Amino acid sequence: MKVLKFGGTSVGKPERMHEVARLITKDGERKLVVLSAVSGTTNSLIEIGDLIARSAHEAAFEAINKLHESYKVFIKGLYATPQGLAEGESVVSKHFDFIRSLAEKPYTVKESKELVAEGELISTQLFFAYLQEKNISSALLPALDFMRIDADEEPVIPYAEEHLRKAIEQHPDTVLFITQGYICRNPLNEVDNLKRGGSDYTASLVGAAIRAEEVQIWTDIDGMHNNDPRIVKKTFPIAELTFDEAAELAYFGAKILHPFTIRPAKLYNIPVRLLNTMQPEAQGTLIAHHTIEKDIKAVAAKDGIIAIKIRSSRMLLAYGFLRKLFEVFEKYKTPVDMITTSEVAVSLTIDNPTHLDSIIDEISVFGNVEVDKNQTIICIVGSFGSQKQGVVAKVFDSIEHIPVRMISYGGSNYNVSILIDTRHKNEALNALNEGLF
Ligand code: ASP
Ligand code: MG
Repeated sequence: MKVLKFGGTSVGKPERMHEVARLITKDGERKLVVLSAVSGTTNSLIEIGDLIARSAHEAAFEAINKLHESYKVFIKGLYATPQGLAEGESVVSKHFDFIRSLAEKPYTVKESKELVAEGELISTQLFFAYLQEKNISSALLPALDFMRIDADEEPVIPYAEEHLRKAIEQHPDTVLFITQGYICRNPLNEVDNLKRGGSDYTASLVGAAIRAEEVQIWTDIDGMHNNDPRIVKKTFPIAELTFDEAAELAYFGAKILHPFTIRPAKLYNIPVRLLNTMQPEAQGTLIAHHTIEKDIKAVAAKDGIIAIKIRSSRMLLAYGFLRKLFEVFEKYKTPVDMITTSEVAVSLTIDNPTHLDSIIDEISVFGNVEVDKNQTIICIVGSFGSQKQGVVAKVFDSIEHIPVRMISYGGSNYNVSILIDTRHKNEALNALNEGLF
């Protein structure tokens, strides 16, 4: 069975939902379809939640009414029959009653999670009702029955395996299964979620849970591109990537895929294909264990990076220094992305500034600390094995006119990361495009 995930824009208009129905029924094969919320809905729900939390009730109700109106228009375009429309109206009014009820009672984190879950609950029920209107048989499997995170917010694949299998077994003749992306339950059995953009993650988690033959992520772009199409003109989709290459690109800025998505797919060896709803015939990008080798496959950039340099003569010939240093980052649950060291200094980068002040306070006891904000990591993915010659030279030749703050090479065989000031980002991406592709 394949898992097909459709993102917010792919279900963002009634016509787009019609197209999704066409795509999933084309070949008659059994599949599990994961849907996001209608585009814009999660953002609106978060805004509504912020208003409720601030007790701005009038503004909250105004925003709820506005969103409700947009769904009334949506269902008019979605359904063609009075029965279909009546079903859509009942879904929408039931969910908006619930949303309004949240604005009327004490509002805690629990309620805020219930509120943002409404986006996927509405989109899947509207879509399911549309399939029924078209006499397309399907089953709606509630993600809240099988998606769970543990106390560390890690999804529990064995739980999904057990419960999703059972749910599917109850419909031996059903060809299409529909479920919600993004939402799950936490150890308290409350409604929770996999964080923004988490529907991709749901798709690969359920793909792993049912040992899917393939996970397809349908978006509105024809695969992962070799460079950022918003900044560089001549980009093209990459035909094939390994799991590691794709994880690197997703993490370092390729917006098309939630970075966590690759983990379960790699672990269970399930190929992931990125496809375009607007151009379903396009080949897209295949992410798998083994793919064609190419010197350089892609470039991606991640902004909002903070570089921290610790200079200490105590590091000279000492051991245990790095451990003590990294314990501070561990204590503040702050991941470190890039590292370079010399005998008397360490430079590293983080992208989460939440605990920056405390971290600096604590590491200052080790030595002199310098902090540079507004940095960008440029990540170049390809094959950089130690037997390769000239590939790195090509990278640096391309950006010889750009000041470089840090370089990380050799950490893996498939990437080189370069830290620059964000001011030079567009120039660097364009120069690399010229020089490398
Ligand atoms: N609806 C959620 C979001 O907008 C999850 C997703 O679309 O992936 O973040
Ligand atoms: Mg997304």
